Amino acid sequence: MSVMVPSRTPALITPGQQALDSALHQLGQAAEELGLDDGLRTMLATPRRSLTVSVPVRREDGSLDVVQGFRVQHNVSRGPAKGGIRFHPSTDIHEVTALAMWMTWKCALVGIPYGGAKGGVSVDPTVLSTRELERLTRRYVNEILPLIGPEKDIPAPDVGTDEQTMAWIMDTYSVNAGYSVPGVVTGKPMTLGGSLGRTGATSRGVQIATLTALGRSPEGVTVAVQGFGKVGALAAQYLADAGARVVAVSDVSGAVHNSSGLDVADLRAWVTETGSVAGYRHADALAHDELLELDVDVLVPAALEGAITASNAPRVRARLIVEGANGPTTPEADEILAAQGTTIVPDILANAGGVIVSYLEWVQNMQAYSWSASEVEVRLRDLMEGAFSEVKSVAAARGLTLRQAAHVIGVGRVAEAHQMRGLYP
Ligand code: NAD
Repeated sequence: MSVMVPSRTPALITPGQQALDSALHQLGQAAEELGLDDGLRTMLATPRRSLTVSVPVRREDGSLDVVQGFRVQHNVSRGPAKGGIRFHPSTDIHEVTALAMWMTWKCALVGIPYGGAKGGVSVDPTVLSTRELERLTRRYVNEILPLIGPEKDIPAPDVGTDEQTMAWIMDTYSVNAGYSVPGVVTGKPMTLGGSLGRTGATSRGVQIATLTALGRSPEGVTVAVQGFGKVGALAAQYLADAGARVVAVSDVSGAVHNSSGLDVADLRAWVTETGSVAGYRHADALAHDELLELDVDVLVPAALEGAITASNAPRVRARLIVEGANGPTTPEADEILAAQGTTIVPDILANAGGVIVSYLEWVQNMQAYSWSASEVEVRLRDLMEGAFSEVKSVAAARGLTLRQAAHVIGVGRVAEAHQMRGLYP
């Protein structure tokens, strides 16, 4: 038996189910390459713990909403579970499971002693007041309290959450514990035990991955970035700082283009002021789909899963795709792009900077100590470059794409951990 990707009616498939099917497909390929036995394949395809909770939220007008929340620990064979918390209206248990699985391989790939987890709440945070968001966060955390803890499962920011969310989680957990527990979350504000370098860590990792993949000076290299949030905006900034020409970016409200290169710092200030890239005065408006199909050297998808599919992949002209987002490319698109000669630096490598510095933050918290920004940066760079070089050699030795090689390494390490530990009882 191989890893089973469930059969679904295509028209009815949700984005979450699509993401989970992609994750299972990638696991199946790696398991085949590694020759794993059926029992182990099934274990790796199945989340260790999966919790769905109802989260009642009192709205400002006095009414009561009930939303669904999730926390999935996909695998804890190599250490405590680790993974972000997403607030997004289309988040469901399938999406959270896929994201947790990718976290497992990512942590193993970059060699940090964590398993993979993810959390989510099916809610649109942009329509909630700050007080509603705080009540929602605290109640959700209270519901998943039995699962999380600095030695069990450590959340972090993801789509729709930020360091304020992490501060509320840390406070809720600490109040329940009766003392301050900074190590229960990462991506916290500095004042609560956050780490220097965490805010831009995922984007710094995307920059390192891009420069490593290019293997030449980024001077004048053209870049388009889909998603201008925590990851995309700073990835655009760091790539521009390195000399690349960022010609287009998008967010959920629109896309903008300037072939001479965008002033990314000025655009970030515009977004802080207006909430969106749309309407930015020093660029032309662009359709969402057009951004993905621009004739650029590098495309950085940094929004959500399933951005590049079989239907638009043939029109993607970038020669290099660096996945800031998790799961932005479907397996069908992967095949089309590979045939077109496009290099893809896969999510579990390209966006690993976030969990690497989260790990460094947690280590500092556990030691009640803090490191300088340069210490953090050096360790991040070492782990990113080390993982990239391993992925490249496995890809070359086995004739695989970078994604397949990254999965072979990540899945292989987790499988080895299972084999060494044995099965209880
Ligand atoms: P975020 O909420 O800060 O930003 C998401 C951005 O994507 C926003 O600008 C939003 O407007 C935009 N967006 C949403 N739908 C879009 C669409 N259809 N077209 C264009 N833009 C769209 O989230 P984030 O933390 O930057 O996460 C982005 C991706 O990176 C996610 O896949 C996340 O899982 C992944 N990731 C995040 C981190 C992290 O540290 N935050 C780490 C690793 C991976």
